[in-house]
Amino acid sequence: MPFSEEARPARVMLVGFDGATLELIHAWAEAGLLPTFQRLMAQGAHGPLRSTMPPVTPAAWSTLATGMNPGKHGLFDFYARRKGSYETEVVNASHRRGASLWRLLSQAGKRVMVFNVPATYPPERVNGLMVSGLLTPADAADADWPPGLLQALKGAVPDFSFYPPGIFSRGQDEAFLDEILAWDRRTLQATEFLLARQPCDFCFSVFIGIDIASHFLWRAMATQGASAPADEPRLRQRLAGAIQEVYCQADAILARLLELAGEGAQVIVVSDHGFGPLDRYMHINSWLQKRGYLKFKRTPLGLAKILAYNLGITPLSVLEWTRRLGLGGQVQQTASQRNAWLKSVVKLVFLSLADVDWSRTTAYSAGYGGPIFVNLKGREPQGIVEPGAGYEALLERLIADLRALRHPETGEPFVGEIYRPGDLYHGPYAHLAPDLLFLPRDWRDQAYGVHDFASNRWLEPSPDRSGTHRMEGIFFMHGPGVHPGAVVEGSSLEDVAPTVLALMGVPIPKNMDGRVLSEALSQERLAGLSITYGEAEEALAGASQASEMSEQDERLIRDRLDALGYGG
Ligand SMILES: [Zn+2]
Repeated sequence: MPFSEEARPARVMLVGFDGATLELIHAWAEAGLLPTFQRLMAQGAHGPLRSTMPPVTPAAWSTLATGMNPGKHGLFDFYARRKGSYETEVVNASHRRGASLWRLLSQAGKRVMVFNVPATYPPERVNGLMVSGLLTPADAADADWPPGLLQALKGAVPDFSFYPPGIFSRGQDEAFLDEILAWDRRTLQATEFLLARQPCDFCFSVFIGIDIASHFLWRAMATQGASAPADEPRLRQRLAGAIQEVYCQADAILARLLELAGEGAQVIVVSDHGFGPLDRYMHINSWLQKRGYLKFKRTPLGLAKILAYNLGITPLSVLEWTRRLGLGGQVQQTASQRNAWLKSVVKLVFLSLADVDWSRTTAYSAGYGGPIFVNLKGREPQGIVEPGAGYEALLERLIADLRALRHPETGEPFVGEIYRPGDLYHGPYAHLAPDLLFLPRDWRDQAYGVHDFASNRWLEPSPDRSGTHRMEGIFFMHGPGVHPGAVVEGSSLEDVAPTVLALMGVPIPKNMDGRVLSEALSQERLAGLSITYGEAEEALAGASQASEMSEQDERLIRDRLDALGYGG
């Protein structure tokens, strides 16, 4: 029994499946393949859970943690601009403001267990146990609270790691799938270890396997295993069902967790975003350069690089030639090696942001989710665009150019929604958001600002990944007082923290943006809850430990992000 017996009014088990998608769960539950999810649907409430815009893992889980939009917690992407520089840094909990759910529960005297939640390094000194998740330096010794916990965990779960051990490469899909499955099983083992270590009133574990498998193996599902060799029907069949296999295992993991939670507990299952197919990347910086927003330096080396770039000698084209000439084996086999190679060679031989002439550049992109930043005077180190009228005129021109952009294959408008920060975010850190954020009309195309000038064409097929994020995640709620069969519509990540606080009888800070998802609960249960609101919580969430990450740590995390296809 992992929960304390005296815990009242409720014990809550929160389970995260990064990237889990409701339409897949519906389809496979209906086919009888996901009995636990099916049980949760029949006995409890469920529905889609809207992600943050853009639906990027660190921003999304931080919104779940704080009940706040990114304008209040300050975390918008995998990367944040480094102050006084055009460089970016990988985000972590020290970039996040606003009190986390586990901090509020700890302050209220509840015992918590928080494990493997992305972007929670460095961990907080909670009342209970905490081990951080994705974006933790791979070899960090301080990813735990209390100290020593991680070492004990590693003793109990051999091969424990914050990242999947395998690296995707075409032709090795089956080995990759096996590693993802084993990795999620180790996350369960680690969760069991932590739950057995001490009783808690609230526990939260996140499983990442569905996200990684969906990024790299979606293609196999979409085309019935087309990426497997034609002469291996068994392999074709297994890969066609690869994503399904990861969901089926998630279902079994959930069954075990429900067992551990016990009858009286409230179990909530969420994801940070959904998934769908990915075909092409838009290289935003290449487009900005073509439209004259971004200019290169006119040094001799810079001019040579520009010549090569204009001739189409770019990292992606050289990669393609090494593949065609059969040099791939020696040069780069895997996504990780290729990205590492791209990164090291890119800056020396090819054009990168280091070759940008900032004195003549008005806009640039840096980040994962379609961001454009203005080279603003007084904010950027060599800003040239005047705040006020100059800034507004530039944004208007950019919006008009984006609207005019046509898809080279269909001739249809390429860009869908275009946002200014005020459309999406509100709060004291909204000014850290990109000046413009846009989405391709077709979500199979992804706008990307990470690989500076990987191609001289603004739109290229995705080399490795075949799936990417969508806005709708999942929400399931099960336990005493939950409406059986209720469908919860219109909920978003902001709503999870206030809902948990309400269930546990802890005041909800006034500055949380979300609401209590009361439609999931019966009238009697609602009447029994005393929902109260408390003072705004502004504290720096990661402030309990030093926030500066060493260059070494930063490099280690970037290497891992490369392997996962988030790198740059
Ligand atoms: Zn995610």
